[in-house]
Amino acid sequence: MERFTITLLLALYYQFVSICSSSQSHHLRGLETELLTRGLLESARDAEFFGWLKRVRRRIHEYPELSFEEYETSQLIRNELDSLGIKYQWPVAETGLVATIGSGAQPWFSLRADMDALPIQELVEWEHKSKINGKMHACGHDAHVTMLLGAAKLLKSITDKLKGTVKLVFQPGEEGHAGAYHVLKDGALDGVQAIFGLHVAPNLPTGTISSRPGPIMAGSGRFLAIIQGKGGHAAIPHTTRDPILALSMAILALQQIVSRETDPLEARVVSIGYVEGGKAENVIPETVKFAGTFRFLNAESYSYLRQRIKEVVETQAAVHRCTATVDFMEETVIPYPVTINNPVMYEHAKNVGESLLGENNVLPAPMTMGAEDFSFYSQKMPATFFMIGIRNETTKPFKAWHSPHFIIDEDVLPIGAALHAAVAITYLDGHVKNQ
Ligand SMILES: [Zn+2]
Ligand SMILES: [Zn+2]
Repeated sequence: MERFTITLLLALYYQFVSICSSSQSHHLRGLETELLTRGLLESARDAEFFGWLKRVRRRIHEYPELSFEEYETSQLIRNELDSLGIKYQWPVAETGLVATIGSGAQPWFSLRADMDALPIQELVEWEHKSKINGKMHACGHDAHVTMLLGAAKLLKSITDKLKGTVKLVFQPGEEGHAGAYHVLKDGALDGVQAIFGLHVAPNLPTGTISSRPGPIMAGSGRFLAIIQGKGGHAAIPHTTRDPILALSMAILALQQIVSRETDPLEARVVSIGYVEGGKAENVIPETVKFAGTFRFLNAESYSYLRQRIKEVVETQAAVHRCTATVDFMEETVIPYPVTINNPVMYEHAKNVGESLLGENNVLPAPMTMGAEDFSFYSQKMPATFFMIGIRNETTKPFKAWHSPHFIIDEDVLPIGAALHAAVAITYLDGHVKNQ
């Protein structure tokens, strides 16, 4: 049944493609994409295919691995690709890999999934709960890998019909470790023309997707500040130089960068998430530390915030007769640029999504000051990033990303697989003539 459905619908699709390329009819183009997306989705929802998707996702969920430690996850992906007869480049960026399906000729189009989990203890009681203490797939990257493997299986079934090449990126280290940066640095996507990525979204119902053209997620940087004072007895403060007071004033002063120095119509964030200093109520310590993150929507804001955070912390320390150093850790924690959806790529994926799910189920997304390392791809080539819904009646109420209660409606798996595959196939069909 599975093979029959996809073969028949895709045969019809490719017949339409040849008619449409001569007639340029928008109506026919809509019909052809609908045939394609229906064929792909029905195949991925076939009992055997869907069962395989769930088994893969649950296995990855049970054995979560942190950034750049995704050795078993990578092995599982390679085993699945081997059994599908799909070739891949490995290792890419330590634990990652890039699979190739199609003719090998241009156009080259890329699909991306991230593989890493988080240092969170899962609190969801279910049969396939994480078996690794203190680690959990709480951002849905287990579903991302599975949807991309699903797309690999769909694409492989029509590999001789692909009008170019699809590169499937299984990427390590998204959670703060800039895995995408390392994939690009390895040259694994050199020659790729455009890229598409998906992220599961617990705030959206299953069967919907959402995105927006232009900037969609913020860029992000981090800093660690150390304030050096002079310790002593808390009862004779005048013999000390109190770094705790300097730290308190510095944190307060940092709030003014956004409230007083930023155009109210532009979005920036400066947040402190870590403070360490002092061990006893009657001792003024020698040194204290604090660390934070800052978010921005363009490169100028990044430079501005970086400079002002340093100035404010150093100056506030000096006011209190202390000294400060501010480390932006750019060598080890590479700042994320802004994620920008190329308007043409956005429109392409939106149209495919509307064919697959219906116009009403493709929603406009608000911008968020969250960051995502898909941004590195979006700086390098036309890219688009979509959110895909994973909420149903049983996964309510809403449990946000990175929550120990995070749950996924697995009905998303065939939808994501079909969407990935359809975006790639139609991209190749639309770009092959320009070669
Ligand atoms: Zn995350
Ligand atoms: Zn994520």
